[in-house]
Amino acid sequence: MPSPIDLHSHSTVSDGTLTPSELVEHAAARGVRVLALTDHDDVAGLEEAASTAARHGITLVNGVEISVTWHGRTVHVVGLKISPTHAPLAQGLAAIRQGRQLRAEGMADSLANAGIHGSLQGARVYATRGIIGRMHFARFLVEQGHAKDAAAVFKKYLVKGKPGYQEHCWAALEDAVSWITGSGGIAVLAHPGRYDLGRVNMLTLLAEFRELGGTGVEVVTSSHTPEQSLHFARLSHQFGLLASSGSDYHGPGQTYIDMGRLPDLPANCTPVWQSWPEAMALQ
Ligand code: AMP
Ligand code: MN
Ligand code: MN
Ligand code: MN
Repeated sequence: MPSPIDLHSHSTVSDGTLTPSELVEHAAARGVRVLALTDHDDVAGLEEAASTAARHGITLVNGVEISVTWHGRTVHVVGLKISPTHAPLAQGLAAIRQGRQLRAEGMADSLANAGIHGSLQGARVYATRGIIGRMHFARFLVEQGHAKDAAAVFKKYLVKGKPGYQEHCWAALEDAVSWITGSGGIAVLAHPGRYDLGRVNMLTLLAEFRELGGTGVEVVTSSHTPEQSLHFARLSHQFGLLASSGSDYHGPGQTYIDMGRLPDLPANCTPVWQSWPEAMALQ
């Protein structure tokens, strides 16, 4: 049975292709009953998503996915059940979005040096409701015929060592966790299998995250293989972290797993929703 709980998804407020309402409608149609909207560094879609969710009888969890720099590497921290108006969280996210604008200008400059002009304006066409990020540049570059799809664009232009890549310093791990927990939410380390850290650094990251007040880790996500899910299930036990599950859905055709198709958490995981009546009622 696919899981009716999905705690990681994106709308047009960040780099998804569905509006918050369309996203919720899609989730409802696919059998999701508890959905977290977790746009990158922005909470502007939550109100719209909540009102559409209420009409469909599904529970919308207020979420966000915060970009963090940890020892020079980018990691993502999902906040669940946050209060979007909590001032330190709102101000922290606003500062990250400002940083994103500057990074986008830098990306456009370096793409221009590589002979690709007008990418900032081009990316902005795809970033109309909230943050600007690499995916918006990717869509412009595909539109202009520089690569066949987003995955190819990333490889050729938008990752370390490529012309459109711009080093950037995101929020500190400590700040991201405290903005989330200070707002009444819980902090979850997103898709740990995507971080190319090596074993020892991963253990250090999990220990530090827990120490700083982190609660959970994504065990099931689109980007994990079944083996990775089992691996992070074991690590969640080892570090006293709860297990989360989310598709990281970005729109039709944009991710590996559609909504409503996530496998259950591996046996013996304690889910992050263990104290949420609306989610436990579905188990
Ligand atoms: P940003 O936060 O602006 O650096 O963009 C990160 C986002 O880009 C991720 O959330 C994904 O949506 C997307 N992304 C990152 N790497 C890739 C990739 N290799 N192929 C496709 N999309 C990617
Ligand atoms: Mn994204
Ligand atoms: Mn992410
Ligand atoms: Mn995500």
